[in-house]
Amino acid sequence: MKRYLILFILLFVSACSDEEVSLTVNQQENENTKIVEAADDASPESELESRTEDVEENNEENVQEEAIEKEEKEDDVTLFPYEGEVEHIFFHPLMAYPELSFAGPQAQGYNDWFITVDEFNRTLEELYKRDFILVHLGDVYEKVDGKIQKKTLQLPEGKKPVVISVDDVNYYEYMRQEGNVYKLILDDEGRVATYSLNPKGEEVISYENEIIPILDTFVEENPDFSHEGAKGVLALTGYEGVLGYPTHNLDSKDYDKEKKKAIAVVERLKETGWTFASHSYSHMDMGKASLESVKRDTEQWKKEVEIITGPTPLYIYPFGSRVKHGGEQFQYLAEQGYEVIAAVGPTSYTEVVHNVYTGDRRRIDGMALIDQPHLLTDLLDPDYVLDRENRPEEYLK
Ligand SMILES: [Zn+2]
Repeated sequence: MKRYLILFILLFVSACSDEEVSLTVNQQENENTKIVEAADDASPESELESRTEDVEENNEENVQEEAIEKEEKEDDVTLFPYEGEVEHIFFHPLMAYPELSFAGPQAQGYNDWFITVDEFNRTLEELYKRDFILVHLGDVYEKVDGKIQKKTLQLPEGKKPVVISVDDVNYYEYMRQEGNVYKLILDDEGRVATYSLNPKGEEVISYENEIIPILDTFVEENPDFSHEGAKGVLALTGYEGVLGYPTHNLDSKDYDKEKKKAIAVVERLKETGWTFASHSYSHMDMGKASLESVKRDTEQWKKEVEIITGPTPLYIYPFGSRVKHGGEQFQYLAEQGYEVIAAVGPTSYTEVVHNVYTGDRRRIDGMALIDQPHLLTDLLDPDYVLDRENRPEEYLK
């Protein structure tokens, strides 16, 4: 029933006239989200729901048929070696409630480092329009006789590979207070959704206000946007738990319960094309860290995060701050099994150094969209993507 409500709201909002939409929005804080408290006793919704159930099922079938058709098409296509650079772009969790982000103490930070839901949706639209295709970061290199080397991807003709990563999918306390969602959860059917409190303090479960469920739906509708089911890389620290679960409170009586919930979400994410990277345990500035502190930090990540995500060969530097190539910290990370180590830079360059696949990722955030739009034009139209409705004018100069 709940699932139907959500589907119904989705279809209703996207398919109906403005007049009807305003009726729905009165009941909803955000479009396409469900306020939990309202769901059980919402008689107007139930009535509308039964009226539209048939239409809804038909629509659902059509979408599924289209998706299957597209998938079949992808199976038929001939693959060609792709010799160019693999783009790697990254995001932070989305501003689900920008009104909170821009009213809080870190408004400037949110403006610089984060994007809104609309901006993410438009980014996907633009990448797809420009023939980008998602690939697994684990597929861009290979290990031959112990030697890491770049691997030539085989892609459908005309497609350009892009890796997406999302940093700090931890939902730190400040994020919950300032406009990000609270955690990732699984619905009754095992789909990943978000849980949050909206600015009114009401509980909201949504598929429409964070990168993970949005991209899941986008790929479902456009299977040719993903090569072999690839989605993205989720980079996690551990000092305030993972994915919104307090898995850092090892002594808490709820620890086992929270850990179990986090593992269930992780498993579903892995099944659906997502992978995990270490983002250090403490969001450490690696460029300034001693070997001792890198060791301590990595051990703690393995103890508290790896037991939830499983081992990963992917490492994403916090702050984009890298250790010296070949230095003892770098050597240590390589010995710990990290085969890919990524930083941040103006272009997506990659290189194998000291038997590690290294490279820079390009930022898709407010600073890039507002201050350096010229650096993004091969990926998207920054003017189109920039959300002038939700970003306060003072930041748009
Ligand atoms: Zn970070």
